[in-house]
Amino acid sequence: MAAAAYELALMTAAHVAEKGVHKVRLSLVTPESAPLELFGPAASETVRELLDERGIELHLARCPSRFEDGRLALVPGEPLSAERVVSLPRLAGPQLAGLPSDSDGFIPVDLNGLVRGEQDVYAAGDATNSAIKQGGIAAQQADAAAAAIAAGAGAPVEPEPFRPVLRGLLLTGSTPRFMRTEVSGGRGEEWRVSDHALWWPPSKIAGKRLAPYLALRHAELDEEPAGLPVDMEVPEAGSRQRALSARRTGASVAR
Ligand SMILES: Cc1cc2nc3c(=O)[nH]c(=O)nc-3n(C[C@H](O)[C@H](O)[C@H](O)COP(=O)(O)OP(=O)(O)OC[C@H]3O[C@@H](n4cnc5c(N)ncnc54)[C@H](O)[C@@H]3O)c2cc1C
Repeated sequence: MAAAAYELALMTAAHVAEKGVHKVRLSLVTPESAPLELFGPAASETVRELLDERGIELHLARCPSRFEDGRLALVPGEPLSAERVVSLPRLAGPQLAGLPSDSDGFIPVDLNGLVRGEQDVYAAGDATNSAIKQGGIAAQQADAAAAAIAAGAGAPVEPEPFRPVLRGLLLTGSTPRFMRTEVSGGRGEEWRVSDHALWWPPSKIAGKRLAPYLALRHAELDEEPAGLPVDMEVPEAGSRQRALSARRTGASVAR
């Protein structure tokens, strides 16, 4: 997930500033035409401002191709001088034997998670050919597949095709940002960005069942789930977590 590169840049900048190291120059290179463009223009603007504030150079619409002798070759454009480069890996699918895969090794599925060309085989998550690889998206795909499987087994549920809603919690080295967008046609639409929680529990992995499960596991361990002040409507889920968080932060919680 490209957001990890932005988090690394922002958190490194916050860290070096805290340590009083002034000679570090940070650059972020991305093939995107705007920062985190999948999350929509408001998120791009917010991230651009954060990068500016931290003095991080942004190189858009560039693909790094090679790093040699302290020079990072960019396509298109001039090379960039750098002592160290952290690059995100190119994604490749698992190419599972006995199942179809696309040219990159990912399992092709329909909007109910049914593997194309198969009758009773379902898949969800990063191994599939979903355009966005993200934990929250994987959980939504799994919800759609579970409903289709249950309906196929005769349960009284209506299968609901997967309609991706991208929720990203961006760590910035100071106040995190919550970004939410409904994704259609490969781009973010109906976007929102906030420094307050836009979903509940306010976790990095936003899944209808997975996130409350993970938060409650913390609670069982006598640790309160991570909580942030909430001043807006959030979906009805996990009133216990809301109460715990409100108690901890002294926040009032909109219902
Ligand atoms: C640095 C980084 C930051 C991220 N941050 C976020 C974030 O903030 N929010 C978010 O929602 N997502 C984030 N993601 C993406 C998220 O981690 C993935 O989208 C998510 O884990 C996908 O879940 P999955 O179950 O499909 O696959 P995975 O979590 O990869 O699970 C697949 C499992 O299958 C196992 N496996 C693989 N092959 C086999 C085999 N042949 N037999 C048996 N087992 C096998 C693997 O060991 C693994 O345990 C981040 C990813 C990275 C790399």
